[in-house]
Amino acid sequence: MYKRILVANRGEIALRIIRACRELGIETVAIFSEADRGAAYLELANEAFCVGPPKGADSYRKIDRVISAAEIGNVQAIHPGYGFLSENAHFNEVCRSCNIDFIGPTPEAMARLGDKNTARKLAREAKVPVVPGSAGLISEESEAMRVAHEIGFPVLVKASAGGGGRGMRVALNDLALKAALQQAAAEAEAAFGDGSIYLEKYIEHPRHVEVQVLADLHGNAVHLWERDCSTQRRHQKLIEESPSPHLSQATRVEMCEAAVRLIKTAGYTNAGTVEFIVDGSGNYYFIEVNARIQVEHPVTEMIAGVDLIKAQIRVASGEPLPFQQSDIVARGAAIECRINAEDPKRNFQPSPGKITRMMIPGGYGVRFDSHAHAGYTVSPHYDSMIGKLIVHQATRGEAIDCMLRALAELRIEGIQTTIPLYREILQHAAFVEGRIDTTFVERSGLTQ
Ligand code: ADP
Ligand code: ADP
Ligand code: MG
Repeated sequence: MYKRILVANRGEIALRIIRACRELGIETVAIFSEADRGAAYLELANEAFCVGPPKGADSYRKIDRVISAAEIGNVQAIHPGYGFLSENAHFNEVCRSCNIDFIGPTPEAMARLGDKNTARKLAREAKVPVVPGSAGLISEESEAMRVAHEIGFPVLVKASAGGGGRGMRVALNDLALKAALQQAAAEAEAAFGDGSIYLEKYIEHPRHVEVQVLADLHGNAVHLWERDCSTQRRHQKLIEESPSPHLSQATRVEMCEAAVRLIKTAGYTNAGTVEFIVDGSGNYYFIEVNARIQVEHPVTEMIAGVDLIKAQIRVASGEPLPFQQSDIVARGAAIECRINAEDPKRNFQPSPGKITRMMIPGGYGVRFDSHAHAGYTVSPHYDSMIGKLIVHQATRGEAIDCMLRALAELRIEGIQTTIPLYREILQHAAFVEGRIDTTFVERSGLTQ
């Protein structure tokens, strides 16, 4: 087992990883940008190094600086968290050449699955259903037109390197498709330095259902059941839950097995998520693999009783999985609300600033993962998520009641947050009945 790990991230996930290391008896080296200097969670690391100015591109994403911190900190492994360098196969490769373990898949498996277009190819190989669309990347407008007419409008133009809901455009007809091709490519080029695009049929009113997988270095792979992340705005997740409401047991098992088949075909190791969309008739289609730990991983931890961060570290260090598929039993229902410093009534405009007062909920089945506190200043430089409120109860109905109680206790003053929106969503009949799809929030009128 490792003695010392570098946490190549910030905020709640950095804190989450530091906590897991503490429990495993592993020392931690944290990094911070000038904007995060003095952040309270940094005190919980054994050592912390500044890696540059506030902009992520100049600090948390800067490979040479992160590697320098790892070298000076004398660590054996790096945990990348999510975002930043977590899905950067080149960084993963650099770690390997410096003899530092990257806590995640190999660079090769990451490259195979991190690119959505090649992941689709692998999924077809593994006999996992993919969304109907182009056979590969699209380079000519005429080709896009031909495919669109073949699969039928509406279509979705997607960036192969896309993430976080960026690099995606819906098109309803030829004219819109022309614009969508350019917009998606330009957005992806700017955000990910790669403007490659492909086409998918736009599935109307789908649910987003994803499967958590975990594989060790000895050929063992399991799934830890699914999460439903259909409560989204602009293709970004707001609320996640497990189990997925209204998914038949047969479909659930089939999807989970398909996910394991895919990661085995890809030679994938460590924790990962296989994302699907499910249409109104219960057909499921693979969309992408997130080759890293995800924001919503606590939902799975609660129902499966597995600490995924500890599992990631153990697996990376060479330990075999301590369980088999039949040992992973899903218990009860868990829900997570992403607490964002945003104004839901103003198009989710970020609301950075100082938190003047904060009261944190507790009680049976309540978990709050956050690095924020009263007096903490939310920086405009990073993602606006400042914490995650997670509940676990015996049934979905009780989980909703518990979440409503916990949301009422959670007070964050001085900035706008998504808390009031969640209180409305959790009382909305469609949510309570589990009749949600990815367009629910926008259609509900709750953000007006
Ligand atoms: P999750 O399902 O874990 O929420 P997201 O796609 O929302 O996954 O991404 C989590 C975090 O990672 C967000 O902060 C998002 O902005 C960032 N992110 C996602 N994909 C990429 C990418 N390809 N490059 C850089 N950042 C990304
Ligand atoms: P990202 O890397 O940004 O997370 P995804 O491919 O996972 O991109 O898609 C993000 C979200 O966009 C999904 O959760 C879903 O809401 C929507 N989406 C993706 N593909 C489709 C599709 N073919 N039809 C309808 N909605 C889709
Ligand atoms: Mg996704």
